[in-house]
Amino acid sequence: MPRQLAASWGHVLSLLALQFLVVAVTAYGALSDDVLRNITVNEADFDIHNGGLLAPLLIPRVPGTPGQAKAQEHLASFFRTQLPKWNITWQNSTATTPATGTKQVPFANLIARKEPPWTKPGQANYLTLVAHYDSKMKPDGFIGATDSAVPCAILLHVARFIDEYMTRMHDEMIALGELGGTVPMDMGVQILLLDGEEAFVAWTATDSLYGARSLAAEWETSMNPAMSIYKTPLEQISMFVLLDLLGTAGPTVPSYFQTTHWAYQGMASVEKRMRNLGLLESTPAQSFLPEADKGPNLFGSAGVQDDHIPFITRGVPTLHLIPSPFPVGIWHTMNDDGAHLDPATVRDWAKIVTAFTMEWLDMMELFPEQ
Ligand SMILES: [Zn+2]
Repeated sequence: MPRQLAASWGHVLSLLALQFLVVAVTAYGALSDDVLRNITVNEADFDIHNGGLLAPLLIPRVPGTPGQAKAQEHLASFFRTQLPKWNITWQNSTATTPATGTKQVPFANLIARKEPPWTKPGQANYLTLVAHYDSKMKPDGFIGATDSAVPCAILLHVARFIDEYMTRMHDEMIALGELGGTVPMDMGVQILLLDGEEAFVAWTATDSLYGARSLAAEWETSMNPAMSIYKTPLEQISMFVLLDLLGTAGPTVPSYFQTTHWAYQGMASVEKRMRNLGLLESTPAQSFLPEADKGPNLFGSAGVQDDHIPFITRGVPTLHLIPSPFPVGIWHTMNDDGAHLDPATVRDWAKIVTAFTMEWLDMMELFPEQ
């Protein structure tokens, strides 16, 4: 499947006629080696003890408890203080759970967006980077370092790293008079930090995915202004990239969906190139993303139940970054804490997802001499 064209953004649409109904449009373009070398991670941001992006999330974060409020404050204050120009909204809902009787438990999804300044409501398409910030109620004191404190911290890192590049890109496009109207010109990024992913008692269709189910339903029925390019916020999601259970050593993440395998291949290529350039710190037995060459007849229908379900069932293209097997001896146990993380793997994921995001946004255009 041809999937990319080297194109000045705004001048060429690269059309991907994916199988059946899905038609995605992107300007995905590889970054040069030099640009990959510039993608760095500050170790302090992922220190498990002090400050930064990760440590404040290494607490129990059960919906309806003070830990939930502390996590929300960390996420909100990050954007308020470090990325004040990003558009921040909370999408709220309540639900009863099998563990909490008739009490309405509050769930709040944080939506952080940056889009080109010329886009009107309903015009931008969003690369949508997603993780859940809640933690599982049992066992008592469960931290959920991989599940999903680390993925949340990685997404904060990505947002901050790409921010100035996005601004430069938009400024240059304005200077060139490229004021939108095509899919590659109107690309934005939104970070979804979802609440209530975990079951309170045992995973069922109603005891799980509280935040994601509420958000997908709301976005399916919220109408953008008449004549908008995209009728609903759901349609504005160009790709739903979901990170989960990341941060332990030696993860292997399969390619789950044939329709988005081209994006998986893009990220796998980023990993391979960064490894070959000596830019990654971890030394796993095999790649994090080992299935770039997976044949079309090898995709099964079985995915993993996670926050993408309410979106993918509504037709949203999804790239699911979750290891198989889940972290052995860690998943849903008290071992899923800061001490069981592999810091090199955590930082490598941050670099890989950052580079993928920059390729998605075709940021190589910012470095014409390279
Ligand atoms: Zn979990």
